[in-house]
Amino acid sequence: MKLDTSIALMEKAKKMIPAGVNSPVRAYLSVGGNPPFIKEAQGAKITDVDGNTYIDYVASWGPMILGHAHPKVVEAIKAAAERGTSYGAPTPLEVEMAEEIVAAVPSMDWVRMVSSGTEATMSALRLARGFTGRTKIVKFEGCYHGHVDSLLVKAGSGGMTFGTPDSAGIPEGLARETLIATYNGLASVEALFSRHPGEIAAVIVEPIAGNMGMIPPREGFLEGLREITRKDGALLIFDEVITGFRVGFSGAQGRFGIDPDMTCLGKIIGGGLPVGAFGGKAEIMEAIAPLGPVYQAGTLSGNPLAVTAGLTTLRILKKEGIYEQLEEMGAYLAKGVGEAGAGIPVQSHRIGSMFCNFFTETPVVDYATAKTSDTERFARFFSGLLSEGIYIAPSQFETGFVSTAHTREDLDRTIEAVARVAKSL
Ligand SMILES: *Cc1c(COP(=O)(O)O)cnc(C)c1O
Repeated sequence: MKLDTSIALMEKAKKMIPAGVNSPVRAYLSVGGNPPFIKEAQGAKITDVDGNTYIDYVASWGPMILGHAHPKVVEAIKAAAERGTSYGAPTPLEVEMAEEIVAAVPSMDWVRMVSSGTEATMSALRLARGFTGRTKIVKFEGCYHGHVDSLLVKAGSGGMTFGTPDSAGIPEGLARETLIATYNGLASVEALFSRHPGEIAAVIVEPIAGNMGMIPPREGFLEGLREITRKDGALLIFDEVITGFRVGFSGAQGRFGIDPDMTCLGKIIGGGLPVGAFGGKAEIMEAIAPLGPVYQAGTLSGNPLAVTAGLTTLRILKKEGIYEQLEEMGAYLAKGVGEAGAGIPVQSHRIGSMFCNFFTETPVVDYATAKTSDTERFARFFSGLLSEGIYIAPSQFETGFVSTAHTREDLDRTIEAVARVAKSL
């Protein structure tokens, strides 16, 4: 595989952009090698500047559930661009978007649009603190909620890959307000609540962990969080930035039947453009400016291009049978990959179109067990697949995504590639 142009671009980029990238995991530091610089993408395929084409399971880290450059989405964005790209004033599109979200996610009475998942979780936390008058937050080790100061403690993914789970630059005093619990470990949450009764504003959780690899919630875990928070008067915040409209049209909360107080969305609802949203019960959302005392704002919030891309995506996803198709494709791929890699100790997880294979003999249920993975073996697996034209995230601790654009042939080619690479592991 020739990567000459990508290598030259990386050399140049590194002189101006830290590590040559605008988001750390893109730099391939943990798997080695030079990241392909992408020229274009279409459907399930992504093509680099040297002309190599890959079957893509990164999906821009989640948003591209319809595949890349879906004709209807592209057409809608073009038409919207001709009407102007930003007004800083309310638009009919935002009303339509709110209607779609509120109808799809029953726990969200009200919603406000922002421009990234990070902004959504940051705003949700401030609101939870403002509404409850409490300061402490509970988060789970290995869960990532964007690069919000309060939430960059034991935050999985990027930090986990680089072995720096806690970021520098976060004031000690602020980090102290963040309490860490164990994913799938209700006892750790109960212990925090009994140590800090009436002090915890919110528990924030990825209802399906997607940033320490993919880890499903144990039966009763989310129900338990609902019970514990309700009893103490703390809010339960579901960070569905990945899972929203991914594991079903009502997200993970619909799939598991849980009623959180607040929800954060992003990724898919932007259809590949920069978008986030947060919302929840009306009585909580009433505390947001200009109705209430919790300030939150955004020059580009509800941006017409971004909302158009998201709205078009949601309307396609609403069509009958899409999630069944994703479920079936996900299952087909997982089964094929499982057979192709038989004999290699691996923990295979899948929910719908989200999947992850941990190279370990230990069942993976939380951060500590995820860390038992053989990341060197993963790096070999990753490089092998890349040179076979299969594009997965460059870290053991990420989630893979199937899109509606993947064909059976794409999946078969992937399974065959896995079988060849598995022999060299
Ligand atoms: C990606 C992600 C975020 C952050 O979203 P950005 O748009 O990257 O700021 C927050 N929470 C979860 C669960 C995510 O996966």
